[in-house]
Amino acid sequence: DRVIQIIGGGMAGSEAAWQAAEAGARVVLHEMRPAVGTFAHRTGHLAEMVCSNSFRSDDDEQNAVGLLHWEMRAAGSLIMAMADAHRLPAGGALAVDRDPFAESVTARLRAHPNIEIRAGEITGLPDTGPAIIATGPLTSGALAQAIAAETGQDALAFFDAIAPIVYAESIDMSVAWEQSRYDKGETLEEQRAYINCPMTRDEYETFIDALIAADKAEFHEGETAQYFDGCLPIEVMAERGRETLRHGPMKPVGLTNPHNPTVKPWAVVQLRRDNALGTLYNIVGFQTKMKYGAQTAVFKMIPGLQDASFARLGGIHRNTFINSPTLLDGQMRLRSKPHIRFAGQITGVEGYVESAAMGLLAGRLAAAEVLGHSLPPVPQETAMGALVHHITGGAEAKTFQPMNVNFGLFPPVEGFRAGRRGRVDRYKAYTDRAKAAWTAWLAPQRADAA
Ligand code: FAD
Repeated sequence: DRVIQIIGGGMAGSEAAWQAAEAGARVVLHEMRPAVGTFAHRTGHLAEMVCSNSFRSDDDEQNAVGLLHWEMRAAGSLIMAMADAHRLPAGGALAVDRDPFAESVTARLRAHPNIEIRAGEITGLPDTGPAIIATGPLTSGALAQAIAAETGQDALAFFDAIAPIVYAESIDMSVAWEQSRYDKGETLEEQRAYINCPMTRDEYETFIDALIAADKAEFHEGETAQYFDGCLPIEVMAERGRETLRHGPMKPVGLTNPHNPTVKPWAVVQLRRDNALGTLYNIVGFQTKMKYGAQTAVFKMIPGLQDASFARLGGIHRNTFINSPTLLDGQMRLRSKPHIRFAGQITGVEGYVESAAMGLLAGRLAAAEVLGHSLPPVPQETAMGALVHHITGGAEAKTFQPMNVNFGLFPPVEGFRAGRRGRVDRYKAYTDRAKAAWTAWLAPQRADAA
């Protein structure tokens, strides 16, 4: 009877422990706090919410994170049950009373007969399994080094530098066009991996002014701002000189605007395909510390993006995460050491709910393994499946950056009208399809547990 070792008792580790224990497996949960702290955690409780107290939208018909709430509740999530029990009034959002929430998660895990909680920092990779590493964005230094030694330095990031991600359908293709620089790429698909937005000299100058004037966020205390080349915030580049961007990420060379072939653009903003489905594009080189409101205002000044809607905005934060698309298999196991799974923010998902969701899945997968049965792949039509598929294979490995759950990760549903009404119907279709698929995936596991 093998015991599952779970390292890190945050959002993901707590949920993983609960799911595995409820499925009938025995679990040891290792948590380093309060003996060893991080710059963001304040307490010794498990599942501490380090910043905002929101689980975001609770709308399970029109919002992808609301759908993820629904799926987690249906799977008996401890994190969701305790969030619901300590809910604060916040309109359509699920706001949580953080201290009682974390205390009750801790109490429920302590009381579970299949769970043992052990205090202390784990400094190396477990030799035997099954194990789940869920040490989060602020994984301690010793363990991070051990992970890097296994995965290679390049496959472990210490900062995220996120360029904004735009829904392809919201880009105005009567202004923008598909072309890779110098038409590079063997296949037509590679040659079309970029969308280009042209700027005149006036548009460029106005854009630079807006970048310099925009409201920017400060780094958190303790989160050192070590910028490295190739990862400078766009506004810092603009401050270094008005021409810097035009010679950097916005250089207009090797591109011809088919809407206006005789006029050479003064600058070009490029967007790169961000997922295999081609529903998401990231704005190349546009990682930023601008505040969210400022980002939408400034990026909508880019011709072709005037009506853009964003799957996520840009940012730069302290964040330890692995290059999951190259390192993990579809069962969330480290390919090179399959007795180790990863879960939570360290896998390259972003947010409390997404992290807990990946814990939920890893806990179930590990439990199935020790109990001697296997689980079918999670359907990609579900929020859970869309996320896990994204991190374990759907995302572009070279530009992999942490991701929130969003409808761009789902296989598209076709045949809806454009405009607001069409979108409402389309999101409803996504969520209906997801709920049916998730219910079907859970059903045999319920029967097993009964
Ligand atoms: P965590 O919840 O951080 O859990 C990891 C646990 O592992 C911690 O308890 C840690 O003490 C422990 N640990 C680390 N190393 C070791 C070790 N070697 N041995 C034993 N234990 C170890 N998300 C949001 O949705 N909203 C926000 O407002 C938000 N704000 C954030 C602010 C900051 C400063 C940071 C860093 C992240 C923020 N996030 C936010 C992102 C993320 O969703 C949360 O960090 C979330 O808690 C991640 O869940 P997790 O379980 O992966 O990691």
